[in-house]
Amino acid sequence: MSDADVARPRPAPAADHDAAMQRGIAAAAAIAVRRLAVSQPLPVDPGPAAAELTLDGPGAPLGEVLAALERVVAATPMTAGPRFFNQLFAGHEPAALAAEMLTPLLNGSMYTFKVAGPQVLVEQAVVAKLLAAVGFTDGEGTFTPGGSLANLVAMLLARHAAVASARDDGLGAGTRTVYASAESHYSIRKNAAILGLGRRHVRLVTADGEGRMDPAALDRLLTADRAAGAVPVCVVATAGTTVLGAFDPLAAIADVTERHGVWLHVDGALGGTLLLSPAHRGLLAGSERADSFAWNAHKMMGVALQCSALLVRRRGRLAASLDETADYLFQGDDDAFDPGHRSLLCGRRNDALKLWAAWKHLGDDGWAARVERQLALARYAAAAIAADRSLELLRRPQSVTVCFAVRGADAAAVCERLDATDAVKVGYGTVDGRRAIRLVCVDPVLGADDIDTFLAAVQRTARHLRAGVT
Ligand SMILES: *Cc1c(COP(=O)(O)O)cnc(C)c1O
Repeated sequence: MSDADVARPRPAPAADHDAAMQRGIAAAAAIAVRRLAVSQPLPVDPGPAAAELTLDGPGAPLGEVLAALERVVAATPMTAGPRFFNQLFAGHEPAALAAEMLTPLLNGSMYTFKVAGPQVLVEQAVVAKLLAAVGFTDGEGTFTPGGSLANLVAMLLARHAAVASARDDGLGAGTRTVYASAESHYSIRKNAAILGLGRRHVRLVTADGEGRMDPAALDRLLTADRAAGAVPVCVVATAGTTVLGAFDPLAAIADVTERHGVWLHVDGALGGTLLLSPAHRGLLAGSERADSFAWNAHKMMGVALQCSALLVRRRGRLAASLDETADYLFQGDDDAFDPGHRSLLCGRRNDALKLWAAWKHLGDDGWAARVERQLALARYAAAAIAADRSLELLRRPQSVTVCFAVRGADAAAVCERLDATDAVKVGYGTVDGRRAIRLVCVDPVLGADDIDTFLAAVQRTARHLRAGVT
């Protein structure tokens, strides 16, 4: 076949395509509005039949697909409303949701200004606010798909600072260590494995009774490891631990890391947002002395998953570990406006647009008020639990999680039954070596009545369990 024989493709009829796009968008908006109207989770929706989910078979008309889509949506657990206390996120800021729904329509990619245009400026505006909140005066930042990967990038930068040859030559022999409290997030161990540092070389530093890292124990570990010939790569302090919501003492830890010359990363995935509250930001005093800071807006800030930023104190660190040349991609624009030079990813959606929209709407004061409502809700829940003799408050809440036990009933069994019979979702963790229900208070639209209703459901469930009702 010669080139001349190649058929001239005819475009699909534009009118059909446009009509299908409009129909799909309108249907999705209508599904979204109907979903919002569901104030109660569904009386356990059996969900779509397997036959409806299979992708074998011929293509279906758009209308059928949209109907199947709505059934999948309807059967998906609600992560907003008065029955969801399971994760460190819940609910929505309205402006953020509107912006997020437009992001895939724009379908830009955040590597270059050429493709993303003002989306780059939006991201920069958000990064500037986050940097200012942390106290990095000449820093930089990048968005990552989740806090685990924000921690990964931080640990990569730290590895570069500790073992500069690793980027080109690989790590080679030797022991490189990472330090985090026993209450730190599991992504630290996972990342140590990914980065070739080794999970075994993550030192778990003792925490005090409130779940905060002990800086003196950290100091002793660093000294001993150094003496044994190990190269410390980074210390990860946690601002808002995943179970207890505890804050490691950043200033005292910075005293230690500065003395030892080790990178200090703060995992503020949960608690970074407290920096936006003048009343509570003292819990993170010393954040400006860290080298990097991970912040999940998709937890306390009510923007949809995912929205995570890694903030770095000194400009240039991200490119030093992540930049590559790609002449097909980066074509002579100003590097400052091509975030791809500083990103873990190549193609990347704009996760900052929703946060920007929420910030425009709420302003700094609105964030402060939001944080204060969240913490007040947790304090109310703790007081109600403490006043109830069938429950046992295990810790005074330090931020938005309230850990408690149910006398005479196993926390896991209570959680499982609450989900099955009341469609109430709450999880459990380990406190003092025993299982504890972890109530998460992050949706500021909830109030005292919702907590009361939740606790009544816990008590009812516990009574049934104790009585052996099945
Ligand atoms: C949630 C959390 C993470 C992980 O964030 P993802 O966005 O779920 O990857 C890391 N560290 C802490 C302290 C967290 O609470």
